[in-house]
Parts: sequence; structure tokens; C-alpha cells
Amino acid sequence: RQVGYAVIGLGELTLEELLPAWAVGKRSRLAAVVSDDHDKALRAARAYGLTEADAYSYDTFEELQSRPDVQAVYIVLPNSLHREYTERAARIGKHVLCEKPLAGSVEDAGAMVAACRDAGVKLMTAYRCQYTPLHWRARDLVQGGDLGSVKLIHSVNVQVEPADGQWRLKRELAGGGSLLDVGLYCLNTIRFLLGTEPTSLWAQTHSTPGDPRFGEVEESVTWVMTFPGGVTAQCSCSYGAAHTRTLDVYGSEGRLQLDPAFDYTNLNLRVHTPEAITEHRLKETDQFALEIDHFSACIQEGREPFTPGEEGLQDQRLMDAIYRSARTGQPVTLDAVPGTDAFR
Ligand code: NAD
Repeated sequence: RQVGYAVIGLGELTLEELLPAWAVGKRSRLAAVVSDDHDKALRAARAYGLTEADAYSYDTFEELQSRPDVQAVYIVLPNSLHREYTERAARIGKHVLCEKPLAGSVEDAGAMVAACRDAGVKLMTAYRCQYTPLHWRARDLVQGGDLGSVKLIHSVNVQVEPADGQWRLKRELAGGGSLLDVGLYCLNTIRFLLGTEPTSLWAQTHSTPGDPRFGEVEESVTWVMTFPGGVTAQCSCSYGAAHTRTLDVYGSEGRLQLDPAFDYTNLNLRVHTPEAITEHRLKETDQFALEIDHFSACIQEGREPFTPGEEGLQDQRLMDAIYRSARTGQPVTLDAVPGTDAFR
């Protein structure tokens, strides 16, 4: 049996990546679509084998309660709307898979974790990269000692955000700028690769003066994190530089390079040692299908997802600390206990 999903939000990610992913997934099926644009909802429903009865609006969302074939919802809305729809889904007893970042603020992310816990439904942060075999290979190499002792990590995630008035440039809907949108990949992938939490960080932000895109949210952020064992990670993200997504890990015996590191396809993993360069090529499977199927397996087998809501909340706290450091010009010491507010 497959887990049935309602997808909320029919924007670019849903139309281009997620709707096709359900067709690939083995444990998951698309059962309903939810949008404020009825025509778009109907078109999407019909294109993927559903009927008019499977197309809901934001106002009729609660009617999904009477659909036992819909066990989960996938929230794919602007960041600051994730909380409202998570709480509404939890109230009608549906499990929640929520796009990254988990929310527009630490407070909202915490409320989402609490709402799902209290309602007895699962909450998973949609960190697709943590479900791809190549990222797991990279993690095995880092944690298995293939690079010797890890010293430095550099990661960059940049893209040019057009000035078309979309929600990503509006603080109220996005919660922040390039950090919440693309810098988050550097942050959570480094935590995933190392399997530890940073103990301190330092950051600065920059926005081109007079650029109308960056009146409400920041253009670029650079930050440095220190991890246990003396690992230093330096990350940069921007909405003003041409598409680049890289991650490099430097160890005493070699260097691991992911380039591109966070794209949907054609990820590249290389390990450089003084003796050789080794390319790690693995069969590519749709990243979104792997992620959705993982959540379905957790629902079917009654276990916690690898990236639960708490994981998204932890990143949200760290991004908050990054903004705080940039604002004050001071380093922030982190009492690195995941799931607590100890470092705030
Ligand atoms: P988008 O702008 O293409 O789509 C957003 C959808 O939300 C649209 O259907 C729009 O109609 C709807 N919406 C509802 N209320 C809205 C409002 N008040 N303002 C604007 N739109 C509103 O965005 P997207 O790229 O699909 O991103 C949606 C979510 O998915 C975001 O949280 C984003 O961070 C995340 N995302 C994740 C990945 C990934 O690789 N995991 C990639 C892209 C986007």
C-alpha cells in the first residue's frame, strides 16, 4: 500500500519537480492538490490522474479530514506560511512533510514541532540532499576517516535572484534572504557530513547599496563555524552571484569535493589524495522521490524521519545565531545541544 499525499502550493517546485516525483516513488502516491488558483489545481490534478474532486482550495483544506486515503500533506508554500498549514494539517490528523526552511522564524519552527507532537502526527523537514546516495557516500568518507582528520570545510551556494517582486525578496513571506533560502544547504549539509554541532560562529552580511532587490532581505552572508575536534567551516551564500553550489572538505590525507553539491541532478563527488583523484559515480535516482518515500516508510513503519521537524528547528536556531553575529559584529558561542534553546 502507498501513502497518499495532498500537496499544498502549486508553484515552480511542485509543478517542475514534485508532481513528477510521485510517479517515481514506490511507497507514495499523489492523492490531492491544494491551491488558491482553481484552474491551476484542476489542470495539475488531471495531468496526474486525479479528478476534480481531488482539487482543493486553501479554504476547503480542512475537508481533507474526511479523506482517509490522504495520510500526509506536503507543504510547498512561501516560508512564512509553513506554520499555518502545518498547524491546520496537524489539527485534522495529517502527517506533515514541509519544505525547507522549516519556517520563517525560530518561533514558528518551534510552534510547528509542538503542534505535530501534540497532535500525534509526524513532521519531517524536506532536506532532499540528506536522502541522496551520493551525499551518504560523502558522509561515509568523511566519518570513516578516508580524508584523515578533517581540518577545513568550504561551502558556497549562490544564485542570481531576479527583481520580479516574488516572495523571496519580501521579509514577511521569506523570513530572511539568501541565508534561509540557499545558505541553509551549506549549513545543514556540513552538520550532516560531520554528525556534530558547531560550538561557535561568526558572520557578516552584505547587500549592494541601492539595489532594490535587497531593501527587505540580505543579498549575501558569509559565516565561519567551529566544530568539535578543531574543524573550521567557512560558508558563503548570495542572491547576487551566478549559480554555483560547492562543498569542499579538507583533511590531513585528502580533499573531498562536491561540485555541484546541491543541484537536483548530476551531482559530482571526487576525492583528491596526493596519489590519485577518485570519482565516485552512483546511479542517480530522483532526489524528491527518495525523500518522499522515506517519509512514507516512516509513516507505514511508525518510525521517526531522519530529518524530523527538530532538525529544521535546529538549523533555524543556528541561522538566527548567524544573523545575530552579523548584527552585533560579535562571535556567538553555541552550547551545542540539539533541540534545546541553551545557546540562545
Ligand atoms: P513559488 O513562488 O514557485 O511557489 C509558491 C506557491 O505558493 C505558489 O503556488 C503560490 O501561488 C503559493 N502562494 C500562496 N500564498 C502565497 C503568497 N502569499 N505569496 C506568494 N505565493 C503564495 O515558490 P517555490 O520555489 O515553489 O518555493 C516554495 C517552497 O519550496 C519554499 O519554502 C522554498 O524554500 C521551497 N523550495 C525548496 C526547494 C528544494 O530543493 N527543496 C527548491 C525550491 C523551493
